[in-house]
Amino acid sequence: MATTSHASAKPRNGVSTLAGRWPFLGQRRSLVAYISGIVLLDLAAIVLFGVSTEVRLSDVLTFAALMSCGAVCIEATRRLGMPAGVSRDLLSAWWLPVALLLPPIYALFAPIVLQMLLQLRVRATVLHRRVLSAAAIGLAGCAASVTFHWLVPAPWMLSRDSTVPLMYAVAAALIFALINTALIAIAAHTANPDSRWREVLWDRESILLDVVELCLGVTVAIGCHLNPALLVLALPPVVLLQRSLLHAQLQAAARTDPKTGLLNAAAWQREADTEIVRARRTGETLALLIIDIDHFKRVNDAHGHLVGDQVLIGVAGTLRSQLRDYDVVGRFGGEEFVVLLPKADLHEARRIAERLRTRIGRMAVPADEVLINVTVSAGVALINVHGEDLIELLAAADLALYRAKELGRNRVCIPVVPSPPRLSGETPA
Ligand code: GH3
Ligand code: MG
Ligand code: MG
Repeated sequence: MATTSHASAKPRNGVSTLAGRWPFLGQRRSLVAYISGIVLLDLAAIVLFGVSTEVRLSDVLTFAALMSCGAVCIEATRRLGMPAGVSRDLLSAWWLPVALLLPPIYALFAPIVLQMLLQLRVRATVLHRRVLSAAAIGLAGCAASVTFHWLVPAPWMLSRDSTVPLMYAVAAALIFALINTALIAIAAHTANPDSRWREVLWDRESILLDVVELCLGVTVAIGCHLNPALLVLALPPVVLLQRSLLHAQLQAAARTDPKTGLLNAAAWQREADTEIVRARRTGETLALLIIDIDHFKRVNDAHGHLVGDQVLIGVAGTLRSQLRDYDVVGRFGGEEFVVLLPKADLHEARRIAERLRTRIGRMAVPADEVLINVTVSAGVALINVHGEDLIELLAAADLALYRAKELGRNRVCIPVVPSPPRLSGETPA
């Protein structure tokens, strides 16, 4: 399931959580309104189902057993930490059975219990993200529970011969995944309107995880209904899966620049090296861009570093949205960005660099009462023309960038290739 934790990222793996950075001004207002709406809806559902649900000891015991399994899972993976941004976990293995086996009120309470535990024991993140996660998962679980109980009057039918209740359980699990992902994705997109919907909704990896969660949740529900002691057998494999999932997410986070969500310098260099080796082997062309924000220090001096950070985030978003999926874009440091353009020749690389320059120039970042505009300068270098390997290409693009700055900034330059020494008597072209 996706839940929100800390810095910026996209929803991946497990229950989604909201993108990390606290957004800016207008976006902040929209996000506050959105979170308040979701939380109010969740509270209304708690009141509605709370007054109409009869408390039964067997239900309370089943709820306690499933929440204990969730708590063990959290404790067993606690030391690994939690990746920043929208992270995923496998806690649905426990709250999906809550939704299927118990009245809807329990599905509303389950995420409150586990999110509190995550906040206290794993990562103390900004409270509004935890509250949003708990409310989104609660509403999704409640909708799944209501649908399942409406279609299947008694949960014991789940463990009988017929496959129909099983199919309804799968349908309820799908509703759960859909609503949770949608509620978190809307928040992530409101926080960062530059993000692509495809990024904040689903990618192949997270669909696979949703399927794993669905299978786990329905299987645990059937096992728990047959004999609650079977939960003890289900616990070790779920813990193991959860650990490997967190490990993969932490590895991905280690490659990312936390401020912009782009590749960090080390990860970019590794990927760029791989692309350059491939281009040299296949004889394909390839270009490299270094992009530097003009007079960025003035933005910081005039508006403060927080506004400066928003400009960096905006530039990163524009770069990401304007480039092809196979281009490799990273933050090289400070206000400098690097882009590797596989298969691009000099003409195309200049065209792309010009487009990026124009788009970034049109971008307006709100600060206090004004809108901030920035320009960028870019240096372009082409493989086999300006350099043979990454170091040479970077050096050539850096020289070109230096020239762009000298010529007045807000422009794209290519390196000046030194002309061969002239023979005596030769006239310049
Ligand atoms: P030029 O056009 O010559 O590139 O001028 P510039 O002001 O952009 O370049 P300079 O190297 O003088 O200043 C870069 C500034 O970028 C200084 C530094 O404080 C700022 N900076 C670097 N990293 C960050 C960051 O993560 N956030 C913010 N807000 N500012 C940063
Ligand atoms: Mg600069
Ligand atoms: Mg610079």
